Amino acid sequence: MARVFRRERIEVKTLDEVRAMRVAGIVVAECLAMLEQAAVPGRTTLDLDALAETFIRDHGGRPSFVEVPGYRHTLCTSVNDEIVHGIPGKRVLHSGDVVSIDCGAIVEGWHGDAAISVIVGGHEAGRPEDVALVEATEESLWAGIAALTVGRGLYAVGAAVEDSITKARAKDGYKYGIVEDYVGHGIGREMHMEPNVPNYRVRGKGPIVRNASTVAIEPMVTLGDQANRVLDDEWTVVTLDGSRAAHWEHTVAAHAGGLWVLTALDGGVGRLGARISPL
Ligand code: MG
Ligand code: MG
Repeated sequence: MARVFRRERIEVKTLDEVRAMRVAGIVVAECLAMLEQAAVPGRTTLDLDALAETFIRDHGGRPSFVEVPGYRHTLCTSVNDEIVHGIPGKRVLHSGDVVSIDCGAIVEGWHGDAAISVIVGGHEAGRPEDVALVEATEESLWAGIAALTVGRGLYAVGAAVEDSITKARAKDGYKYGIVEDYVGHGIGREMHMEPNVPNYRVRGKGPIVRNASTVAIEPMVTLGDQANRVLDDEWTVVTLDGSRAAHWEHTVAAHAGGLWVLTALDGGVGRLGARISPL
C-alpha cells in the first residue's frame, strides 16, 4: 500500500550541529557494539536494557526512549516474531533467537538513533532463513543509505530498500515482507522529526534532501507477510503470521560532499567507501 504523506520539509543543520550529532551517534554505535556481544543465551532483555543505560550515562549521554511519553526503558528489544518496540523484560534469550535492539541516546541535546538485529549465539546458532533475513535487512539499510543524495528526492531511499529486498528474495528464496506501518524519520534536537522516511517505494519524489540534513533510515523486514499488530502492552509490534522479523537502523547525515553515517563506528566507510565524507 503506497501512502502519501503531507508536504514535509527536511531541517537543515550547520556543519557544527552535524558534528555534534556525531558525538551522540558514536555513543549509540559503541553501545550497540557492546550489546551485540552481550546478547548471549541466558541473558534477559532487561539485562541488556540495564547495560545500555549504564553505558550511555557513563559516556556522557542520556537514554532518549525514556522521554517518549509512556515508555520507561533505554532500549526496545524485539525477539523473533516481534518486529519493533518490544519492551525489555524477563524474557530470557535463547540460542538461535533473533533479537532486534533499538537504541537512542542524547548528548548535549542532540540525538542518535540506531538498531541492529543479532542472532543469539552467533550466526552458526541461527536458522539459515534467520541468518539470511538479518543479512538481507542490513544490506537493504545500506542500499537505502547509499540512495540518500543532496538535491534528490528523499523517497529514493525507500525505493532502494525495496529494490534490495526484491533482489534478496530472488537470491535467498524467501518471501521477505517489508513492513510499511513504521517508517524512518528526521532527527536532530528531537528523536522523531519531519520528514517521514518510508522504507519502501512510494509515489512521488518526496521532499528534496538538503545540504547538511539528517535522517534515520530503518527498514523492518519479515520472513513472511508484513501484516502486523500491537500487543496488549500497547508497544510491542508482532507479525500476524508469526514469522520472524529483523530491524536495522542508522542515523545518517547528507551533505554536499557525500554522506556520513553518524551511528556507524567507521562513519560508513566500510560499506560505502568513497560515498562517505566525514565533516
Ligand atoms: Mg530507533
Ligand atoms: Mg528511529
